Amino acid sequence: MSIEVTNLTKKYGDQVAVNHISFQAGKGEIVGFLGPNGAGKSTTMKILTCFIPPTEGTAKVCGFDIGEKSIEVRKHVGYLPEHNPLYLEMYVKEYLRFAAELGKTKNPAQRVKEVIALTRLESEQHKKIRQLSKGYRQRVGLAQAIIHDPEVLILDEPTSGLDPNQVIEIRDLIKNLGKEKTIMISTHIMQEVEAICDRVIIIDKGNIVADDTLENLRNSAAGKVIIRIQFAEKMDAEKIKSIPNCDKATETENNTWLLESADSAFRQQVSQFALKNNYEVLELVSEKNTLEEIFRKLTGNVGHL
Ligand code: ADP
Repeated sequence: MSIEVTNLTKKYGDQVAVNHISFQAGKGEIVGFLGPNGAGKSTTMKILTCFIPPTEGTAKVCGFDIGEKSIEVRKHVGYLPEHNPLYLEMYVKEYLRFAAELGKTKNPAQRVKEVIALTRLESEQHKKIRQLSKGYRQRVGLAQAIIHDPEVLILDEPTSGLDPNQVIEIRDLIKNLGKEKTIMISTHIMQEVEAICDRVIIIDKGNIVADDTLENLRNSAAGKVIIRIQFAEKMDAEKIKSIPNCDKATETENNTWLLESADSAFRQQVSQFALKNNYEVLELVSEKNTLEEIFRKLTGNVGHL
């Protein structure tokens, strides 16, 4: 396992920021760490990167305990903190060279060249960090995080504050890095998880409320079946509501209805209803539960799209 978290708790004074959480991430996985603001995401990431100690519990990164082997942990993990603390007066290349030397990278000049190419910073490498756009500063942060070629990357809200084009560029970069590394990425943006991650861990008020693949979460967590059906002609609401186990029916447009049920066999019941009554159906689709709905249900939070 690349990341193993066991019963981790962090208290700030009386406040419990992270409450006995446990999870694992395997080699090569990209895990989304999703939760509303204040849920405990940054705290967990700071513990995993040895920036702050836990109050209770433990964690291992690449088999090394964060308490007992923190130097080894730091060698194996790259970290992009939420507020990427760059030295604004340094030049990009100079800063990366500094990071490479701090990380005791072999052949730092060569490695700086490599990460500049990997993060597509060629055009900006001779500028001062202060002169860079937010998107390029994030790339410098990512370059710094991977300079010592760590197996695990911990990225805290890497796209926050970027414009839509920059968001797409940074996501592509992360996806590419994910081909070789285990990545844990925190966000409160559900689309981000859908765009990048294989698996999602949802945390709320310091507690893990879901840990599953996106596919499984969409199929099961919201616990309801949604059918979109389009009839050839206008339908009467009373008739629609007579479909067995139909909990909710909403007409949208062009004789299309969204039907909700808690019954997993609802799709068959809808098609039998149409057949029995001889209604012509133009379209019948099972809608997947969106991650946003699942997130809202599990955290009682509206979330962001
Ligand atoms: P997230 O990253 O999910 O937004 P955080 O891990 O930053 O959440 O915070 C979790 C909780 O811990 C919040 O209620 C926050 O106010 C609190 N917290 C975080 N850091 C500190 C600190 N240094 N001192 C006191 N409380 C803190």
